[in-house]
Amino acid sequence: MKIVSSEMKNVLPKAHLKILNAATDLSNQMDTDLYLVGGCVRDIMLGLTESSFDIDLTGTSIDKRFATRLADKLKGAVKSSSVFGTHKLSVPLGPEDNLEIDLAKCRSESYKEPGSLPDVDTGDLFQDLDRRDFSIAAMSIVLRSPNNQDWQCGQLIDPHSGYIDLVNKKLRVLHKKSFVDDPTRMFRLIRYSCRLGFGIEEATKGIFESSLNSVTTVSGDRIRSELEKIFKEKEVGLIVYNCVKLGLLPRFLTKLNCNHLMKFRDMSFQGSVEQYGAEYWLGILAINADKSQVEYLSKTLNLSSKQNEVISDLCSLNEQLKQNETSLLADDLKRSEVYKFLLRYNLTAIRVCAETTSNRSIKTLLETYLNSLINTRVELTGEDVISLGARKGPEIGELLNNLLYAKLDGQLESVDQEIQFVKDHISNCKDGL
Ligand code: ATP
Repeated sequence: MKIVSSEMKNVLPKAHLKILNAATDLSNQMDTDLYLVGGCVRDIMLGLTESSFDIDLTGTSIDKRFATRLADKLKGAVKSSSVFGTHKLSVPLGPEDNLEIDLAKCRSESYKEPGSLPDVDTGDLFQDLDRRDFSIAAMSIVLRSPNNQDWQCGQLIDPHSGYIDLVNKKLRVLHKKSFVDDPTRMFRLIRYSCRLGFGIEEATKGIFESSLNSVTTVSGDRIRSELEKIFKEKEVGLIVYNCVKLGLLPRFLTKLNCNHLMKFRDMSFQGSVEQYGAEYWLGILAINADKSQVEYLSKTLNLSSKQNEVISDLCSLNEQLKQNETSLLADDLKRSEVYKFLLRYNLTAIRVCAETTSNRSIKTLLETYLNSLINTRVELTGEDVISLGARKGPEIGELLNNLLYAKLDGQLESVDQEIQFVKDHISNCKDGL
């Protein structure tokens, strides 16, 4: 019997321990069994103190009442509940920080059709662990034992020998049909292997290879969702590289040449999710895509409108850059012209292009736009311009634009010069009348 209470105390943040204590107290009051499951258990056993530690709790009689009472106890709220007996709670961790807790009734799953969503039934803890993807994710820690077992609080329940795999740094599926039942697990395999630096157990390797073709049985939505998880990983470049090298992504995206992705192997997640998240990587995926491939990607992965915008803008930006290369790189091209040319394109599309183009001059041009031109602001506001005598109406917007263009071109360096520019413009208009 392995008791891991001290590992929990050493690894979990205090706030998480408090939450687990509150949940355990509640399970005592409600006389229900309760277990910590999933990635949290894996990361505790790995001693990963920097893990983000989602909390997944399960128990045979977890229900809406338990979820509501726990949410109340933790001054949070039940955000959603599903027909499968799962509840998502959001609880405050600090003044500006919330934690999501997943509560679920123990369940068993069976797959009628490969790649489809499973049929779900109620089950016990062992059945709940049997349905999991890898042995290291099929462990649980007892918070409160069921009455028919003599388990201790803090006891590791490990029916698939996940702990040994964890020590040996191996990823292993629980049965031969695992990837055929749910081919998204093949993406998960590569993701965890790269994240944790784990190898793939020999038999699992064989099962992976023989299951590759089944990736086509999964919906685009589910594959997109797996890709979105990959795109948030620190080792995103390496994961994408392996998804191509091992033949997984090309098997799904048959009409797109994915080989170019392999050169991004060393690219790790940089900056914010907003700048370098899913849209950015979908852009990388679509760097060389023509219009028909963009449509294909959009349809196959059922992309959101924001994601579509990035890949279709990228395609037309590439086209326009090629067509206008000479004029865009002319010595006398004004900065305001560059600004006007690029303003119509999605920023992520421009960022992807800037970071991947092999044309150095175009790269510099795009970087100037991203790092300098789009941050240029004029001092005067619409109201200032009106108080200087400009007529209210659409001309104000136009005047402000001209002001910005003049500033971009280095003609205006102070507020006084901006005021003079506006005054000149107004008097020119009057002269014109
Ligand atoms: P992390 O959030 O750190 O990536 P996690 O293990 O918590 O890892 P989740 O996607 O939150 O990952 O899933 C929670 C648990 O649910 C997993 O640990 C695994 O046991 C199980 N699980 C998730 N997806 C699948 C799947 N496709 N097939 C089988 N089990 C799964």
